[in-house]
Amino acid sequence: MGTRVLVVGGGITGLAVAVHGARRGLDVTLVEPGPLGGLSTQKSGALVRTHYVDRSSAKLAVRGLRDFERFEEVYGGPSGFEATGFAYLPEPGEPMHGRIAMLQSVGIETMLVGPDELRALDPSLDVRDVEIAAFEPRSGFADPALTCATLAAAAHEAGADLRTGVGVASLRDHGAVLSDGSVVEADATVLCAGAFSAELAGGVGLDLPIRPTAVKLAFVERRVARHLTVIDAVNGTYLRPDPAGATLVGRRTWTDEPMPSPHADLPEVDDAFVADVHERLIRRIPSAAGGAVVSTRAGMLDMTPDGLPLVGPSDVDGLWLCCGWSGTGFKTGPSVGEALARWIDTGLPDRDLAGLAPDREMVEPVAARSPH
Ligand SMILES: Cc1cc2nc3c(=O)[nH]c(=O)nc-3n(C[C@H](O)[C@H](O)[C@H](O)COP(=O)(O)OP(=O)(O)OC[C@H]3O[C@@H](n4cnc5c(N)ncnc54)[C@H](O)[C@@H]3O)c2cc1C
Repeated sequence: MGTRVLVVGGGITGLAVAVHGARRGLDVTLVEPGPLGGLSTQKSGALVRTHYVDRSSAKLAVRGLRDFERFEEVYGGPSGFEATGFAYLPEPGEPMHGRIAMLQSVGIETMLVGPDELRALDPSLDVRDVEIAAFEPRSGFADPALTCATLAAAAHEAGADLRTGVGVASLRDHGAVLSDGSVVEADATVLCAGAFSAELAGGVGLDLPIRPTAVKLAFVERRVARHLTVIDAVNGTYLRPDPAGATLVGRRTWTDEPMPSPHADLPEVDDAFVADVHERLIRRIPSAAGGAVVSTRAGMLDMTPDGLPLVGPSDVDGLWLCCGWSGTGFKTGPSVGEALARWIDTGLPDRDLAGLAPDREMVEPVAARSPH
């Protein structure tokens, strides 16, 4: 019998740890009280882009992009990834040249383009306020439901025991007591429970700086056949085409609506939010004017003070953390799952995870490291 691994949470990160752990021959049990696919994951905007201001996030993001590019080959099913191309539109005065050099140095295919080139890439964009933009030809978005279904099938096929309808009631030394009263013994327990992770870790004396925060999205009828996936710092939005004929649009903010507890109800997506994001979308894609808002959704983020996740072994023997993704964990889920499973199996840390050590000193978030 291989090392016993208990994965707590069946979102994209937990499923990815389960696939790669089981493929390595580890004895993996995953528990998830809700449906596989996770709380945050199923609501995700699922942008897969590599533009970050910090090297650590950029390195993980490019690994994530490469994973989505060969997803079917690696996991045996679809992720719905579409390489629409991605543009980051900075705020006026945002330093871009050094950042692009840093991104290129970690292997990211990205370049600076002016308004004419941007307009040639995407004629649907109003570029009158754009002086410069960062363009990534290979980035785009994926489908969270398809991605999770494929990961779940791959984990099952590799031999992981995926248990739904049951969660962890309390962590304990090398394992957990489950909500049905049973006990799972584990050599390694991996906490992938998003915003619920802090509460569970608190039970074994760990104080994780993870706060639940609500975010909202709107889907606006699309009047153009296609457009780029965009983070628009000027208008404070992010947007991407949706396969069902809409444009997904959200606000690019960190801590809009802190929630008192991860158990609290998510807020309604109110008319004021919808009108605001629609107006901001029209400023960038004028053909969205008059487009119907076809649907909305709210989700929960697991925010940390510096907007980076907590990944690696904790101070509690046998307890590993993979949580606090702060609105950025979809694109990196599969590659981080692979890196963490390898670390647990071999004992050799992954260098790209070094900046995410749970005991690091946290600094304030940097604007372009924002969600999505
Ligand atoms: C609206 C929105 C837009 C986003 N857009 C993007 C984007 O464009 N790009 C990007 O990269 N990221 C994006 N994100 C962030 C990304 O979706 C998340 O970081 C990622 O899905 C987190 O996955 P996870 O597996 O860590 O957590 P989750 O998907 O939240 O999964 C955690 C799981 O733990 C389970 N759980 C809770 N309590 C217990 C317990 N006691 N025992 C066992 N299991 C438990 C939950 O039920 C849940 O299924 C977005 C998120 C939201 C909400």
